[in-house]
Amino acid sequence: METINKFSSIQNPNPSFSIPSNPKSLPSHSHFKSLTPLKSLKWKNITFRSRTRNFNSISTNFSLNPIISSSSPYLEYDILIIGAGIIGLTIARQFLMESDLSVAIIDASVPCASGATGAGQGYIWMAGKTPGTDTWELGIRGKKLWEDLAMSIEDQGLNPLHELGWKKTGSLLIGRTSEEISMLKNNVRLYCEAGVNAEFLSREELVLKEPLVDVEEDGGAAFLPDDCQIDAQLAVAFIQKENRGYGSRYVEFFNDPVIDVLRSSGSGEIEGVRMTKNSLYCKKAVVVAAGSWSGSLIQNIVEKFDVVVDVPVKPRKGHLLVIENFSSVMLNHGLMEVGYMDHKVAKPSDSGEVDYAHTMSISMTATLDAVGNLVLGSSRQFSGFDTEVDESIIDQIWKRASDFLPILRQISLEDLSKDRKVRVGLRPYMPDGKPIICPVPGVPKVLLAAGHEGVGLTLAFGTAEMVFDMVFGNPAKINYAPFSFDGRGSK
Ligand SMILES: Cc1cc2nc3c(=O)[nH]c(=O)nc-3n(C[C@H](O)[C@H](O)[C@H](O)COP(=O)(O)OP(=O)(O)OC[C@H]3O[C@@H](n4cnc5c(N)ncnc54)[C@H](O)[C@@H]3O)c2cc1C
Repeated sequence: METINKFSSIQNPNPSFSIPSNPKSLPSHSHFKSLTPLKSLKWKNITFRSRTRNFNSISTNFSLNPIISSSSPYLEYDILIIGAGIIGLTIARQFLMESDLSVAIIDASVPCASGATGAGQGYIWMAGKTPGTDTWELGIRGKKLWEDLAMSIEDQGLNPLHELGWKKTGSLLIGRTSEEISMLKNNVRLYCEAGVNAEFLSREELVLKEPLVDVEEDGGAAFLPDDCQIDAQLAVAFIQKENRGYGSRYVEFFNDPVIDVLRSSGSGEIEGVRMTKNSLYCKKAVVVAAGSWSGSLIQNIVEKFDVVVDVPVKPRKGHLLVIENFSSVMLNHGLMEVGYMDHKVAKPSDSGEVDYAHTMSISMTATLDAVGNLVLGSSRQFSGFDTEVDESIIDQIWKRASDFLPILRQISLEDLSKDRKVRVGLRPYMPDGKPIICPVPGVPKVLLAAGHEGVGLTLAFGTAEMVFDMVFGNPAKINYAPFSFDGRGSK
């Protein structure tokens, strides 16, 4: 069995960095001295509270000694983006497409190697989201922007299936109990009222649409024919290729974690970031899009401003099982059991506290990817930044899938050992189930876009658009308020 939770083979054809078109001479040493915190800056309008710390050695080891020699070039860009997951890369794309600003994207590793994005199953779904909730509009917008991208690829004479793994399969959200069925029927009504195509399928109708699924007497499904899927790794490669098409306006700094910020000795404003190998200066904005690592990064930034802002994002580990060369299961749609929705937000026990160590859940998800591999998911658990494969979880994913796809009961997972891969990713989890996308209070020029948990692929383009509009002060396309810091608890 091969484990592919590291994708170190992905090459960066834009090696380390290129010098911007008009590099300036080295700054005076005052830039480096300005790292000393300025105590005079205070943010008056936010609640100061104790905070959750997330640490991981690869990205936020602030004891590292950066090697920045006096001969380092002065590298300055309009926008610095920390994190090259799907959120950071789509934000970069937005600035490149919609402005003439220069963009540098920084990653502790390379895209899809750590974090969540490379492990994502690829659902671009409205199924599983609830009309009227804060993330609904962002989901609608995000999905529409993926559809626009798929269409524009087609317009260029390319095939979105090959470029993005794009398939408009429709989604089946499957229920097995009468309680689940009444919830699905209610959701279908809400989807239709919200203008999203949806119908409820009885068990017989479900089997006609997806013959390998069985749910017994009481079962049924919500069917959303316009839901789509992508292959996250293909899509990331495509977006990177597009970004690189902007030439010297776009630069990648990979395998170079951000370890500190640079501040002006005069105004105290953030001037840039310091990484282990380079320092970058920034004219307009620094966007923290570092997924599960964003909490500790933001903490280290705001400390310099004598401000306490809580970003209680936590890594939520997920396993996916990929079976290659597997012709026994042909699926016409993307599948998900309705119970998956129930596990989005970890529930508190009777004491009112969430016992994160004991909230492991497995819900059936199943898709065929762009090349016909069967992709089965998925688990959710809190185990810090650990990304080791847990074989017992893989067994449970297989067992859960066979509850819905009885044909799998005839096949032993052991017999598939040569053709199976496991993907592990860290979803950036927010306790209230929605991302934080907003300027960081009290820290001019710094914005945060993180905490998308299990829907970051779907919400990526909507998030990128929002960040862009915030930086330019454009009218909001959707309501920003639910994604700001205000009133977000630290649990
Ligand atoms: C098993 C699984 C299935 C999923 N399925 C779906 C799905 O079907 N549909 C969907 O919409 N979403 C899905 N998701 C969720 C989605 O993958 C995430 O929400 C999304 O990828 C988050 O993207 P991100 O860019 O915020 O974070 P990440 O992808 O985690 O990227 C963060 C990046 O920041 C970098 N970084 C960290 N610290 C530093 C530092 N100090 N300096 C520089 N860089 C740093 C990391 O190296 C990393 O590359 C799934 C997730 C998992 C795990």
